[in-house]
Amino acid sequence: MANVKDVRFLSRRDALVVIGGSMLLPLAPRLVKASDALRFKSDPFKLGVASGSSTPTGVVLWTRIIGDGLEQTAVPVRWEISTDEHMRKIEQRGVAYATAEWAHSIHVEVTALKPGHEYWYRFIAGEHASSVGRTRTLPAITARPERLRIAVACCQKFETGFFTSYPHMMNDNLDFIMHVGDYIYEYEVKPGLGSVRWDGSEEATTLEDYRARYALYRSDLDLQAAHAAHPWLVTWDDHEVANDYAGDTSYDQSGEGFLARRAAAYRAYYEHMPLRRSAIPVGPNMRRYDAYKFGALAQVHMLDSRQHRSPLACLGEGESDGPGARCTALFAAARTKLGQQQEQWLSAELKQSRATWNVMAWGTPIAHVDLDPGPGVAYRRDSWDGYPAARQRFLDTLQEIHPNNPIVINGDIHAFQVANLNRQADDLQTPVIASEFTATSVTSQGVSQRALDERRKWNPNVLLSDATRRGYLLMEFSRDRLQTDLVTVDTIKEREAKRGLTARYVVESGKPGPQLV
Ligand code: FE
Ligand code: CA
Repeated sequence: MANVKDVRFLSRRDALVVIGGSMLLPLAPRLVKASDALRFKSDPFKLGVASGSSTPTGVVLWTRIIGDGLEQTAVPVRWEISTDEHMRKIEQRGVAYATAEWAHSIHVEVTALKPGHEYWYRFIAGEHASSVGRTRTLPAITARPERLRIAVACCQKFETGFFTSYPHMMNDNLDFIMHVGDYIYEYEVKPGLGSVRWDGSEEATTLEDYRARYALYRSDLDLQAAHAAHPWLVTWDDHEVANDYAGDTSYDQSGEGFLARRAAAYRAYYEHMPLRRSAIPVGPNMRRYDAYKFGALAQVHMLDSRQHRSPLACLGEGESDGPGARCTALFAAARTKLGQQQEQWLSAELKQSRATWNVMAWGTPIAHVDLDPGPGVAYRRDSWDGYPAARQRFLDTLQEIHPNNPIVINGDIHAFQVANLNRQADDLQTPVIASEFTATSVTSQGVSQRALDERRKWNPNVLLSDATRRGYLLMEFSRDRLQTDLVTVDTIKEREAKRGLTARYVVESGKPGPQLV
């Protein structure tokens, strides 16, 4: 069935394109003749395909074409979506235009699909067809799915290792892959100890730099395959822009200068992710929060804990990050991590949610972790420990609105962490009201395990922390429980790795707090 809106759009813009079930690949040669831009010297689909931002009736299909001579032209790229993996039964097709303005990326918002269905898709440019990707729509709002299976990944520094986690996700029978940030690292890429691959890049600061960085990461075939195999739900953390940045402030810049860099980074992010038009950045601003409803089973909020946050507090002269002692400014009520608008939006979403599971996914951990073994309290400036008033507002929201089974998911610390969230974050005598799962890194190096083991002695709300392993979270939500596997890979220094399991936790519906099984 053709999408009526697309038919009108196409008949105005490109008479060569025919929509309907009868015309298949034989159309391609005519398109080649129609435009010089369609003669590619090599495969223009080297960065692969992706999909995501699903709704019950729609999905975003993504690709970015690369090659010589693309600079000045709007390149027509055909897309097709099918109900079978051999692309025999085409449900819809259309054409989109790749322009230099958006780095020749394509974001097709397909509509009028069936809820809870699997689809396959591909792109065609000139005589080249992309690989076939698989995607899914969300279940109908009224559906009562038995289960939802997602893998959660983050922190994939390219030169540190191969992305050996992703091939294992292929066998996990997933509905979606969730990425919670540090998809790229903006750092200068240095050859050196522990580096398995590198390309000599400088620190990314300009649009061209960030585009090149995404293209480098997407050249990884395991990452490409993971994008082609599943739709993704994404949010970001700091390294998509700059280390430990907060709102309009980074470690070495603030105001206009940093906002210009942020605008470049956000634009490149949009260009490389399967995002909707609603996410198109305007200058340095980009909407990165959304809710995904899996029928009655789960409501997943992908949240942005970077763009709208207040600057880090209690910094000494010349300090930029690292652990800090608390000062009065830290506790200021006006300090925010999500920003007022997003906080209000989240409260409204939670208020109307009847889902069995309510998931909040963002970049950084929220459980209270005291870094000081003595009576004093030291904290990580960049985590929610650095934003105590904002954290308490979030916990108050959970207490007041009482959404079913709140689950918090994040990454950032390059370690698995499983934690109880207490009603008052730093008062462990107060009731546990939510559960937190922090994914370890795909490749980025972990911190000292000895320090983590020590720290757990005076932070009993942290049930597990393991920085020794790379891997991901495999989470299965069902009606009566959530099961989370801490999946590990035995190496990132070779292309292939053996899979392992560090631990399995269960959260029973109605009983907050992860339990080791
Ligand atoms: Fe990281
Ligand atoms: Ca202490």
